Amino acid sequence: MLQLKNIKKQFHKKVVLENITIDIQKGEIVSLLGPSGSGKTTLLNMILGLTNIDNGKLIYDGVDLTNAPMKERGFNIVFQDYALFPNLNAYENIVYGLRNNPSLATKEELEGFIAILGLKPHLKKKISELSGGQKQRVALARTLVTKPRILLLDEPFSALDGVIKESIKEKIKAIAREYELTTIIVTHDPEEALTLSDKVLIINEGKVSQFAKPQEIINEPKNNFVEDFIISQLHAKRENIYNLFGMCYG
Ligand code: ADP
Ligand code: MG
Repeated sequence: MLQLKNIKKQFHKKVVLENITIDIQKGEIVSLLGPSGSGKTTLLNMILGLTNIDNGKLIYDGVDLTNAPMKERGFNIVFQDYALFPNLNAYENIVYGLRNNPSLATKEELEGFIAILGLKPHLKKKISELSGGQKQRVALARTLVTKPRILLLDEPFSALDGVIKESIKEKIKAIAREYELTTIIVTHDPEEALTLSDKVLIINEGKVSQFAKPQEIINEPKNNFVEDFIISQLHAKRENIYNLFGMCYG
């Protein structure tokens, strides 16, 4: 279990995150949802260990990792721009993280990740020959082979169009379930968050607006922000949500 206790962050005296307290259970898919600039990426980077935590605690399975270096945490991320190496082919990118530590994933595990992500036909391609969705899957495989205890994804769908987006969403869900992999996803899109996650952390101006299951957020929005920002955006896409939760909008 990952516990964030009273996390605070400020840049140049400007408070960016405050009083962030949540528990995330093993295997859960949790979205960090909020408008641009609300502090989502900062929170993700603090969990990863890329950004220092000013105040508060980050505890994983009872161990205080607040000040632990990235490597010791054993979490890993897929960055928003994928950050693939253009001079390596797809396969070489995927196994890159194993070069100094081949024991991380076994051959079977490596093959399993490639299979579940449907990457077998693309392994020899250059990065420039891959579509956006294929790049995303290569980046995901490259992160998975490092066997992270938590998988972090920053806006994984922002560069993808509808059908591809749905297919990657399904793959992320399948991986989280298959490997009981705790997955934390940053998104600014309420529909993505509510259709993909077990729980959603809604952040507004650096504070927790609501942390709950998608159905609870829709049935019982905790405050005006959730009501106005989140629910109103969903109304524009009401069919998807209607189908998902079988609910009726007035
Ligand atoms: P989001 O991912 O929700 O769009 P961010 O976490 O990237 O938001 O940013 C939250 C706020 O923190 C923004 O006001 C941003 O300008 C500021 N910020 C983020 N990183 C830094 C940094 N390294 N130095 C100074 N300010 C930063
Ligand atoms: Mg961001």
